Parts: sequence; C-alpha cells; structure tokens
Amino acid sequence: MACTHSKDCQLYAQFAMEPSLRLWKQRYCVSEYEQCARYQLALEGKSVPLTLLPNGRRVKQRSKEQMSAAALFNAILKQRVPMVKSMLKTGLPSERVMSADGMTPLMASASVGNVELAEIMLEHGCNPHAKNFKGETALDIALRGGFTDCARVIEKAQSKMTAEEYEMQQEENEKEDEPSVSTVVGLLKKLNPFA
Ligand code: SF4
Repeated sequence: MACTHSKDCQLYAQFAMEPSLRLWKQRYCVSEYEQCARYQLALEGKSVPLTLLPNGRRVKQRSKEQMSAAALFNAILKQRVPMVKSMLKTGLPSERVMSADGMTPLMASASVGNVELAEIMLEHGCNPHAKNFKGETALDIALRGGFTDCARVIEKAQSKMTAEEYEMQQEENEKEDEPSVSTVVGLLKKLNPFA
C-alpha cells in the first residue's frame, strides 16, 4: 500500500523532477512509508519541516532559484496550465531551468504528454533539441510515452531551427536582464504551487 500522504506531500513539490525523488518514492512512499520521518512527524500532529527527508536527515534550505525551478516542474507535472502561465509571465526563464538530471520544462511537459504546455515552453524559448543526461530529447520522451500529438509539436519546432540556432538564441536571451528573483518568489508564494 502507498502512503496516504502522497497526494499532498511537500517533498514532491520541492524535488519535482529530481532523480532523488524517484528513489525516495520507491524506498518509502510505495512501500515502507511507516518508516518515513516525514510520515511519522505528521502522524504525531507536528508540523513537518520542508527540509526534512524521509530518512530523517535534513537538507540545506534550497535556494530561491531551486525553489522556483521545482515549483515550475511541479506545476507542469500536475498539468496546472494557468499556474504555469502565471509563473512564466513574471519572467521565470523556462529556457534556462533544468533539473539535476538535465530535464527541461519542455521535457517535463512531454513526459505528461501535454500539448498546450509543450507549446507554451516552445514559445518561451525552450530548446527542442536539448538532451537530458541520458541523451534523450523532449521528442524521445514524448514518443516513449506514446504521446504522438505532443511529439508532432516538438518535431515541428525542431525542424524550424537547428540546435546551433537555438543555442545562439539562448545566448542572446542571457545577455538580457535577469528577472527579479524576489518578484518570482513573491508570486510563487501567492500561487502556493506546493499545495
Ligand atoms: S515522503 Fe514520506 S510522508 Fe511523503 S508521501 Fe512519501 S512516505 Fe509519505
């Protein structure tokens, strides 16, 4: 039996798309959840710190940039399209956000087969040729999931610009002003993507 807290566990929101989350899920959430330090604390009616891991260890408070990236991935995986749009309106640079294993917001959108999200990420400059650390593109991920509509959209974007042209475009974008992190974080607090 899986942990009854899985639906709302803040660990998922904080570490969305991180490889470590998959391991914790396998080790705790779908099997030995009674051993999970977060679960035990919640059972005692105590507040569960964001920094507490299932094995009882604490991680350092994550940076604002890491929290913003995790919030974006979390919203994509939950397919909360209006929330994703709001985050991107603040200038959150989706084309530069990446998980620890090289997943981009476009790849995350492809992994859930959401065409609208894939189109949004492409409009915001996500590189359809980018590869994660396994060497997969968003197109590979969409095809592996059987999401042919999503795959078609990504394939079309790939045909419009070469990988080199995308890289040049990203370099140009990076020269422009960075968005204010405090603006992004302020918005994320208001939206509460960790709910
Ligand atoms: S991390 Fe712990 S509390 Fe959260 S869903 Fe997994 S087992 Fe449950």
